[in-house]
Amino acid sequence: MSGGWTGSDRKSRLPDDWPLLRQIVFERAGGRCETIKKSGKRCWDKGTDVDHKRAGDDHSLANLQLLCTWHHARKSSREGNEAQAALRAMLRHPVEQHPGVITGPPRPPKNKGF
Ligand SMILES: [Zn+2]
Repeated sequence: MSGGWTGSDRKSRLPDDWPLLRQIVFERAGGRCETIKKSGKRCWDKGTDVDHKRAGDDHSLANLQLLCTWHHARKSSREGNEAQAALRAMLRHPVEQHPGVITGPPRPPKNKGF
């Protein structure tokens, strides 16, 4: 680790073996987008971005998927909106949390089949 904490810079939080993880995810997906569309069919566009299914620091393979540029951009912008909404909610209701409290896993996105 170097360069210090830059806050919202996602790349700074990636693990050292990220290039390897990325490659495994890529090969597992056959180089194709893993998004399942509303029709139940897989996107199958060329995969370009390894994405965290649940945003955060879980870099396990189970939480990673390969997305095409379009689906990744779409997902990222939605996460950005959610993060902003969460921040606004936090500013409205400052909550002091006990460090031992587990708030539970984040809810899966409602709209899975876009
Ligand atoms: Zn896609």
